[in-house]
Amino acid sequence: MASGVKYKSISSIPVKVIGTVVGSKPTHSEFRWKRRLVQMLVLVLVVLIPASGLFRIDPGAAAFVVLDRQIWLADFSLVTGAWLFLASSLVLLYSTAGTVFCGWVCPQNSMAEWANNLTHKLLGKHAEVSLTGEAPRVAGAKNKIMNWMLLGVAFFGAAMFFALIPLFYFYQPSVVWSFVTLQENTQLAGSLHWIYAVCVVIVFIDIALIRHFWCRYACIYRVWMHSFKTKQTLHIAYDASRSDECAKCNYCVTSCFIDLDPRKTDIYDSCINCGDCVDACNRLHNKQGVPGLLRFDMLERTNKSVNKFRGVAISLFARMGWTSPFVVLGAVMFIWGLWSYQPYHVVVGNADIQQGRTVQEYRIALSNKLYHSAELHVRVLGLPPDSYRLSAENVKLPPVGRESLILSIAQDLPRGLHSVVVEVSAGDTWMGRFPVQHFSEQRRKL
Ligand code: SF4
Ligand code: SF4
Repeated sequence: MASGVKYKSISSIPVKVIGTVVGSKPTHSEFRWKRRLVQMLVLVLVVLIPASGLFRIDPGAAAFVVLDRQIWLADFSLVTGAWLFLASSLVLLYSTAGTVFCGWVCPQNSMAEWANNLTHKLLGKHAEVSLTGEAPRVAGAKNKIMNWMLLGVAFFGAAMFFALIPLFYFYQPSVVWSFVTLQENTQLAGSLHWIYAVCVVIVFIDIALIRHFWCRYACIYRVWMHSFKTKQTLHIAYDASRSDECAKCNYCVTSCFIDLDPRKTDIYDSCINCGDCVDACNRLHNKQGVPGLLRFDMLERTNKSVNKFRGVAISLFARMGWTSPFVVLGAVMFIWGLWSYQPYHVVVGNADIQQGRTVQEYRIALSNKLYHSAELHVRVLGLPPDSYRLSAENVKLPPVGRESLILSIAQDLPRGLHSVVVEVSAGDTWMGRFPVQHFSEQRRKL
């Protein structure tokens, strides 16, 4: 962290209400359409990630599911790798790209921007109806019941859509479809309709009234970002050596949709790196064949307009130097965890039926960690064939189901320790072994 950086408390960092200033916005923006595209792609990804089975949560088993594999704490490599990758990637993101996440990725911000734009369209370009601490503003000519109704219906429809997304993280798409089409499905929780209704109300309030509450008071990303953001984190830089060109211009200020002066951005301000101001200034100067005065930069704010590639590379490397190994380590551990994943689990323990001080019966607990049924074959190695009995040799396990078998061992085995191995296989694809040390002290017939 660079010295001399003074940290403000989180509550004192301003978050301004998006869309309160409407000026002569650029008609064409290089960054605008790219940002919209990224925002839409992120929303699609947020649904696709659980719907494709890449990641979701199994509420019944209280377990994470990756690629339709139930993840247990015993899957150490997968669990540790995922958390390490996630945590170090976030630190990397905080310190390099900073608020790019807010402006380009965060679904909450995308939702708030959409709500602001619709409000301006229906209630006037200066309209503000969300709770900002100021009186609501509505253009007199647009203050009509029909406009309010349209706004309410659009917000409610959006709330119904966004409240559905979390369901994909708990149910498979076919189950979500059953829910949407009001079909019976035994996998759906009985109270789900009520839970969904509460979610719709919460999202509706979020969209309609408290769009920026989350960013102001509850965003974890924002809190952590301010612990890792530096002077070099991606920001808008201004070429002050050409400030005379700004004498009769404030195009960038009117282009900033969160009411900032892009020439004076600070480490801790509400800039979300949208790029509208860079586009605006570039457009003005491109007519004269010169670059604008604003640019994205990862160096300390300087007066030089030249983008020093070497300096940026060094600055990036300095920050990535210590986080990248953890990102790579997390990714490698995660991939290794997937590669070495055990889809079935075998445990052999006492069946609580003892003859004297020796155990004669063992319980073989089999678990299927996959979300499709499986057939397992059980063998016992290390004992003469006529000295034990298995309650079943072939077991059909339902998706993420469990079964138990009983292994009974004859009491007429020679006195002493016998090394027994319970071998379980699923066709040619998987084999697991569980060793048991069986002690025999009696000589009686089974
Ligand atoms: S748009 Fe460019 S020239 Fe105009 S005020 Fe902003 S930085 Fe200066
Ligand atoms: S200062 Fe520029 S990049 Fe930052 S929010 Fe305003 S327009 Fe977007």
